[in-house]
Amino acid sequence: MTPRVRPYLFYGATQALCATCLRIVQAKEVIEDGKVFLLKRCPQHGPEKVLVAEDAAYWRLGREKFLKPPEQVVQPNTAHRYGCPYDCGICPEHEQHGCLSLLEITDHCNLRCPTCYAGSGPERQTHRSLAVIEGMLDRIVANEVEPDIVQLSGGEPTLHPEFFAVLDACRRRPIRHLMLNTNGVRIATEAGFAERLADYAPRFEVYLQFDSLEEAPLKALRGADLRSVREKALAKLNALNLSTTLVVTVRKGLNDGELGRIIDFALQQRCVRGVTFQPVQDAGRNDGFDPAIHRLTLSEVRRRILEQSPIFRPEDLIPVPCHPDCLAMAYALKRDGKVTPLTGLIDPQVLIDGGRNTIVYEADASLRTELFKAFSTNHSPHSAAGALHRLLCCLPGIGAVAGAVAPSYDQVFRVIIMQFLDRHSLDLRNVRKSCVHIAHPDGRRIIPFDTYNLFYRDDLEQRVLAPLRAGTQAP
Ligand code: SF4
Ligand code: SF4
Repeated sequence: MTPRVRPYLFYGATQALCATCLRIVQAKEVIEDGKVFLLKRCPQHGPEKVLVAEDAAYWRLGREKFLKPPEQVVQPNTAHRYGCPYDCGICPEHEQHGCLSLLEITDHCNLRCPTCYAGSGPERQTHRSLAVIEGMLDRIVANEVEPDIVQLSGGEPTLHPEFFAVLDACRRRPIRHLMLNTNGVRIATEAGFAERLADYAPRFEVYLQFDSLEEAPLKALRGADLRSVREKALAKLNALNLSTTLVVTVRKGLNDGELGRIIDFALQQRCVRGVTFQPVQDAGRNDGFDPAIHRLTLSEVRRRILEQSPIFRPEDLIPVPCHPDCLAMAYALKRDGKVTPLTGLIDPQVLIDGGRNTIVYEADASLRTELFKAFSTNHSPHSAAGALHRLLCCLPGIGAVAGAVAPSYDQVFRVIIMQFLDRHSLDLRNVRKSCVHIAHPDGRRIIPFDTYNLFYRDDLEQRVLAPLRAGTQAP
């Protein structure tokens, strides 16, 4: 008898969520036609097949080569009771501390974007009180001791009535680097506002919403043509040379054809230290989003960047070891009007194994350590420059070339792809490595960003999570 052969390679078993009812279901990771899929089966809603990576070779690279021992929070906040992901957190089962901790200080916003994971808008008038915010900050510090990055977010955080008091409260704590996640409207329109922000430099960075250079994608994602707002905000930030990262929400078929142009644009801005690309997460308000049409995986975004930008090669845009399935990163140096990617600084024979199309580091423990330290999301522009310099100095033969001259913080340019898990893609192996965390307003918990948007934001814990918890075997 001829054996029945599956059309895929079975890579592993995991658990995931039914995208319809959010119950935990059995799942398989399989590789088919060079792509990675999650095969799920819900007893009630049947089978699901979700694309999690369109480039299986790259995905396997992250899984098999870019692994490091998990770094833990100092103090977990919840017990293991109902099972992951119903116990956030951070519970003792989580496998990564917060490289970046979000602090949402308001639900209010001066825009009402069709795509907003927080569901913010002008109609939402609730701001967290300063006392609540101080409690959230204290929880972040209790978990992290010296948090690498705290990012103020919302809603639009600059609209908080005590915004500068919040910044001061952050500064009173041992936070290495502060980020402001903003739509840029107040920076663009209010005289003196950018200058006040600049008082918080150098350990301060603007994380500026910047989805497109075109009108149509901005209208689709933000409900308005924000080009002149971005232009005015960047003019002010450039004049102050205030460190800025452009943040691009990427939706398939909308703005995924202009990623290279956005990188080129970013490189021309004096203040911009990098671009972060975030494929749309199916969470919160997502008008016009059809997961079957508009979802993008990290490796699809990576492929588009490599196709559209002549600067980076595949060896440059590599997995970030703390969460390789969801984070990829590339470095370049801006010097003397030239942009050189990391691999451009190094003899390819030293760093790249052409056969495997990857970075060679495994045989050299110190190179591996410095590579993993540099490719981490917990860096400010200053610390990234230091980490990159240490990496370059580690490479044989490089000291006399680029490594001999330490790059300054404003010469380092980083491209990051940051994918968040949603009801389609979340699996329990993967979510435990999430290193982007968010402070719950109760001041008692820090929750992975991915699960926060599914189960813990606003009233979701009572409305959605409580019945799911009730259906588990926990006491
Ligand atoms: S996602 Fe992390 S914190 Fe949340 S329940 Fe799972 S292991 Fe715990
Ligand atoms: S995405 Fe940002 S700018 Fe848009 S409504 Fe939400 S909080 Fe406001």
